[in-house]
Amino acid sequence: MAIKIIVAGPRGRMGKEAVQMIYGVNDFELTACLDHKNDGKKLSDIEGFQDDFNAPVYTDIEKCFTEQQADVFVDLTTPEFGYKHTKAALNHGIRPVVGTTGYTSEQLEELKQLAKDKKTGCIIAPNFAIGAVLMMKFAKMAAAYFPDVEIIEKHHDQKLDAPSGTAKKTAELIQEVRKSKKQGHPDEEETIQGVRGGDFNGMRIHSMRLPGLVAHQEVVFGGPGQTLTIQHDSMNRASFMDGIKECVYQVMDLDELIYGLENVL
Ligand code: NAP
Repeated sequence: MAIKIIVAGPRGRMGKEAVQMIYGVNDFELTACLDHKNDGKKLSDIEGFQDDFNAPVYTDIEKCFTEQQADVFVDLTTPEFGYKHTKAALNHGIRPVVGTTGYTSEQLEELKQLAKDKKTGCIIAPNFAIGAVLMMKFAKMAAAYFPDVEIIEKHHDQKLDAPSGTAKKTAELIQEVRKSKKQGHPDEEETIQGVRGGDFNGMRIHSMRLPGLVAHQEVVFGGPGQTLTIQHDSMNRASFMDGIKECVYQVMDLDELIYGLENVL
């Protein structure tokens, strides 16, 4: 039997991709969408959606969850609404798969407790790109053998934070197995400030920002006579869809909240 899914934020960049993905998977059925516009319309009535995308659109979450018997709720909206939606889904016994980012640790704790109380599966993953999670795992494996490493992360020039959360997380994972070491020549000097990148426990992180980039990272290890490069590139938002698909399957067998795709794979 198909897994019945409701998507919140179907007109957004992530939401549009998710709707396409769901219609393309035989095991999945898009039963409805939650938007803050277009109440009572079908997706196909909205510009940019195919004629056969006939899922109904709701603006009232209670009405949506009451009228549509869904198994999984996928949220791709904003932190404020994503949090409210996730709570409502858990209260209705519908398993949330949340890609929306920016929850506070208090909100995550509250949702974790609610999922436990309701014995309902929930996955919240700030990075759905399976390749990015694998890149981090492989980097941790390699760091046990190559303590000399530099991380180069590259993103579009609209990104506000540096380094990226993924680069920081990679450095933290590497640090769990890497012998502490200050890299480079002990007497090295920067003649242009910051040119050697940010220092994370003696390893260097470099953040590149350019138009045209999406989300990319290289982890470069060096040893006597050899280098090893582990690289991941997100070319567009389709890169996050395999992660959402995997989480929809996995959340069906959970009865608690799991945070992070790396804890699901
Ligand atoms: P986006 O293009 O701005 O899409 C957000 C959509 O949510 C918009 O269509 C917006 O409608 C809609 N929306 C806002 N309030 C709503 C509500 N109350 N109910 C239903 N829909 C509502 O953003 P995006 O790039 O798709 O990203 C969406 C979220 O996913 C963000 O939090 C982003 O950080 C996150 N993200 C996660 C991953 C991951 O791997 N987990 C990857 C990329 C992005 P209007 O435009 O009309 O306001």
